[in-house]
Amino acid sequence: MAVTSPSSPLSALTLFLRPNRNHRTLSNVVITAASIRCFSSPSQQMDDQRQPETTKRVVVCGGGVIGVCTAYFLAKKGAAVTLVEKSCVACAASGKAGGFLALDWCDGGAVGPLARASFNLHRALSEELNGPESYGYRPLTTLSVTITESRSSSPSGDSTIPSWVDRPARGPRTIGSTQTTAQVHPQLFTTTLLNTAVEKYGVDVVIGKLEEVRVEEGRVGSVVLEGGRVIESDSVILALGPWTGKFEMLASMFRVYGLKVHSIVLEPKEPGAITPHALFLSYHLQGGKAMDPEVFPRPTGEVYLCGMSAEEEVPDDPEQIVGNPESIQMLKRVASNVSSHLAEGEARVKAEQACFLPCTDDGVPVIGELPGVKGCYVATGHSCWGILNGPATGAAVAELVLDGRASIVDLSRFSPARFVGRRKVKV
Ligand SMILES: Cc1cc2nc3c(=O)[nH]c(=O)nc-3n(C[C@H](O)[C@H](O)[C@H](O)COP(=O)(O)OP(=O)(O)OC[C@H]3O[C@@H](n4cnc5c(N)ncnc54)[C@H](O)[C@@H]3O)c2cc1C
Repeated sequence: MAVTSPSSPLSALTLFLRPNRNHRTLSNVVITAASIRCFSSPSQQMDDQRQPETTKRVVVCGGGVIGVCTAYFLAKKGAAVTLVEKSCVACAASGKAGGFLALDWCDGGAVGPLARASFNLHRALSEELNGPESYGYRPLTTLSVTITESRSSSPSGDSTIPSWVDRPARGPRTIGSTQTTAQVHPQLFTTTLLNTAVEKYGVDVVIGKLEEVRVEEGRVGSVVLEGGRVIESDSVILALGPWTGKFEMLASMFRVYGLKVHSIVLEPKEPGAITPHALFLSYHLQGGKAMDPEVFPRPTGEVYLCGMSAEEEVPDDPEQIVGNPESIQMLKRVASNVSSHLAEGEARVKAEQACFLPCTDDGVPVIGELPGVKGCYVATGHSCWGILNGPATGAAVAELVLDGRASIVDLSRFSPARFVGRRKVKV
């Protein structure tokens, strides 16, 4: 998201991301894959379980933040939910994002009301699920800062700039307060929510790849997984993130493409020196090129940096997504020009990674029932704000599926019906 126009945390299609966007150890609350019930072999199928006549059977496909939030709210409202994930829960952008949340940065656009509702829902969820302990939820102050690479290493002396930002930094501006900006650890948030959904509301998790949604007389009947397993369902939610474009039924109707973005996670030797300030940088390389990386200290003591985007083909397997070495190197260079605490030798590199933003052609998420396919819903295209907008998206879809309309937010602006006539739906 741009410092000047803070409308999205990762709005830039430039070399770097634009700014649009601890240590208590959380290791004792990390949720492991083993604690989530996964059914990967046909012999372990739960399909035969008889549900009461009135209980709606819903299959949610995609174990990113959007699918997990949707499964959580559906199950909480009483649906019998099966979540299907082809690789691992939160293995893609939902596990590797910054986790930055903003109340009002999307105001004025289509996403504004969704973002406001979701920011508030994050706060409520944090109270319900002990967010500060479970997944590093905390309000924080957010600054935009200009950094120009130079030989001089003296700090700016400006008292608005946190003391750990001890390289030359200029023009600090407070662009978010503890009332309007916050953060979560995205992977812990997603897994905490799913674990609660499994343990408290009976969600079943199936590791398997969705291959087909079976439609009979214009209505969803079942989904078919790779290998032939069939799961009967009354409704299906497709939350496939940037893989939406690889699922023919949806790709024939609208385009969702992936924008690859890089990130690193550093563990400074002195985590106590890093204060809770998110930084949206206007970063000027020697030679004049400007970039917009983002820096998010976490209550885990880690410091997360992201930037360096490129439109690239999304590989089938999320595990095959790796960062380009030059982009990772550039992020390390940025880190050392922000703070001596983040320079080589002063911080351990915990992760070097990349993942894909799910982007639509009109920049607006696609949320709603597919025209002509009763019971089949889509929730995707959240671009750089999926962690923020996951909860309200999930709650709204749950209402749409079970009550026929969403009250938490008006979903009409997000309807896939807006693409009708542009591409033909294949069922
Ligand atoms: C570097 C970076 C930083 C970001 N920072 C922020 C931030 O600070 N704040 C914010 O709000 N947002 C941020 N975002 C955006 C956010 O991460 C995404 O919008 C969000 O994670 C998208 O969630 P998703 O569930 O739609 O997709 P994903 O997380 O990509 O999940 C999709 C899932 O579907 C599964 N899947 C795909 N196809 C199939 C199939 N056929 N069968 C079964 N499963 C399938 C995949 O394996 C995957 O697990 C950031 C993104 C990036 C890349």
